[in-house]
Amino acid sequence: MRIVALAGGIGGARFLRGLQAAAPEAEITVIGNTGDDISLFGLRVCPDLDTVMYTLGGGINEEQGWGRTGETFAVKEELGAYGVGPDWFGLGDRDFATHIVRTQMLAAGYPLSAVTAALCDRWKPGVRLIPMTDDQVETHVVVDEPERGRRAIHFQEWWVRMRASVPAESISAVGAADASPAPGVLAAIEAADVVLLPPSNPVVSIGTILAVPGIRAAVAAKTVVGVSPIIGGAPVRGMADACLTAIGVETGARAVAEHYGPGLLDGWLVDEADAGVRAEGIEVRSRPLLMSDPDATAAIAAAALDLARELAARDRPGGTAGPDGTADTGGPDGTGDTGDTA
Ligand code: GDP
Ligand code: CA
Repeated sequence: MRIVALAGGIGGARFLRGLQAAAPEAEITVIGNTGDDISLFGLRVCPDLDTVMYTLGGGINEEQGWGRTGETFAVKEELGAYGVGPDWFGLGDRDFATHIVRTQMLAAGYPLSAVTAALCDRWKPGVRLIPMTDDQVETHVVVDEPERGRRAIHFQEWWVRMRASVPAESISAVGAADASPAPGVLAAIEAADVVLLPPSNPVVSIGTILAVPGIRAAVAAKTVVGVSPIIGGAPVRGMADACLTAIGVETGARAVAEHYGPGLLDGWLVDEADAGVRAEGIEVRSRPLLMSDPDATAAIAAAALDLARELAARDRPGGTAGPDGTADTGGPDGTGDTGDTA
């Protein structure tokens, strides 16, 4: 089975680990968000790609969810002693090495996709990790602070330095409209049996990936199942509500499904707390969605794959929804069977 997943950082990476456990034989391609990338101290930092690479490669700081295990901060302290900032973005000594290698390779002319592949040669994440684009795309946030007025700042400054405490008036993926998918991205999606949207941030992770021209259309042509990052009207961790509010979407499992829309999403997993949620044109199932431990996370991934298989079978001419099928009045193309309703 060929699976493509679009992924941000922590939420995406943890889900992917569950997916690997649930589908050990599958060929998994991960399309990573690069909108959060930032240049610091002359180094190119790709937080989401690195979180996926470290998590799947066994190098992640498990408690934190990002950064390296066994990390030390001597370089950061030395920079601070020189009065050189920013000090709000945590880069440890081990992590610095990754950014040095990346920056060196980029300066030598390698595209980010090739650099990422080279870094993964060391980490062996067990998936093919491709950045959404080799072009520069940066998520910017417009804020209006009383002392400083209205200005656009880098996403990381809003997210990490301000902890999203100032409302975002708008969020945009600068450069996305002119970007091209990285080599291999569209081919992987086209070859996929299923495309999964992990519980990553729907605005600044998945939304940014989908903003690269060509990706949304390629994904929409496949069987797509998403996992809600919103449980009971709140993000499980982080401040995704602040991003959703900025784009005028309510913080709810249904609102996020409708934001993706039935043109993109075929199936949607919501938590049991949201069992009553329905979204027109999207098959919604409820499950425990807390990625509390590896087994629970693998069960979520397995449920996403089950739903995808069922929906794919239903879309095939003459296909059926399977023995426990919940086919309703028919899929968008009218091939759905009438079956037992759950
Ligand atoms: P990223 O978008 O993948 O970089 O990851 P974040 O760590 O910023 O989290 C994205 C979203 O994942 C947030 O909206 C969280 O609410 C959601 N999330 C985090 N942990 C869980 C979980 O255990 N279950 C579910 N369903 N969502 C989660
Ligand atoms: Ca579709």
